Amino acid sequence: RAKEKGRNCIQFFSADMNARAYEELLMSKALRDALDQEQFVLHYQPSVCLDTFKIVGVEALVRWEHPEQGLVPPSTFIPLAERNGLIGELGRWVFREACRQAVAWRDQGLPSLRMAVNVSARQFGQRHLITELSREIDSSGMLASDLHIEITESMMMENPDRARRTLEAVARMGVDIAVDDFGTGHSSLSYLKDFPIHYLKVDRSFVMGLPEDQDALAIVRAIVAMAKNLKLKVIAEGVETARQRDLLAEMGCDEAQGYFFSRPRRAADIAQLLKENRPLP
Ligand code: C2E
Ligand code: MG
Ligand code: MG
Ligand code: MG
Repeated sequence: RAKEKGRNCIQFFSADMNARAYEELLMSKALRDALDQEQFVLHYQPSVCLDTFKIVGVEALVRWEHPEQGLVPPSTFIPLAERNGLIGELGRWVFREACRQAVAWRDQGLPSLRMAVNVSARQFGQRHLITELSREIDSSGMLASDLHIEITESMMMENPDRARRTLEAVARMGVDIAVDDFGTGHSSLSYLKDFPIHYLKVDRSFVMGLPEDQDALAIVRAIVAMAKNLKLKVIAEGVETARQRDLLAEMGCDEAQGYFFSRPRRAADIAQLLKENRPLP
């Protein structure tokens, strides 16, 4: 009986695995087609200066416009693209599109702003990242100093020496570097100062706790203080209330992003906001 049960277990397990492997294969194929057919779109979320409440930059956030499923969020297909090796091509498309859009806004005479692009772990490890980045900058006519890349702490910590070399090459091009989701990884102070970093983005999980959560409050204060000492700028992510905004401004946080100011929006809507050029929300 036990043997029979064991066998059933194995069969069940492998059938489940097969189903998942099959699903993964189908999704990979769909993602491949999506790249060929350009089914991706970038939305842009404003980053607001906490002195003026005006837009100083945007972060490009990719979405998949799936013919049947509608807008698919990046949390589902970025990890897939990392596993199946399509992240290089997707990442390249994101760079190209973000640069193209930034130049298009500039050509429309809109106030100049920073464009932040997220880089994934595997993409960050790819040898040709630097070549591609500089090619996209050159061919678009984008100012390197208007471009930011966002990486996470774990990407710096996995292979610190290599990460430092990559980031130094990025910084030499004139592109600024932001550490995304800051506070959730395990980087130490002493490490941070060895990297050519310009911005820390306080993770939404801490901002979410403000103002009530005393731990979150202490952590955000500590991050802002540390950033000041290291001459880094601080951006708070996930700001959803006026109280959070006021508290962050009072703490000396430089910029903020979040639904309180604006959700990620299509390019045309951002152009409208830039044209109005008034404080958000
Ligand atoms: P992230 O870079 O930390 O981006 C912030 C995420 O938080 C975005 O989700 C944004 O829509 C969401 N968000 C912003 N403000 C608020 C708020 O006030 N409340 C709440 N609840 N959420 C807020 P999204 O667009 O789904 O992106 C999720 C993650 O996917 C990003 O996290 C980033 O890691 C990754 N991602 C997005 N676009 C790209 C891309 O082009 N390339 C790569 N490699 N990764 C990307
Ligand atoms: Mg980001
Ligand atoms: Mg973030
Ligand atoms: Mg985040």
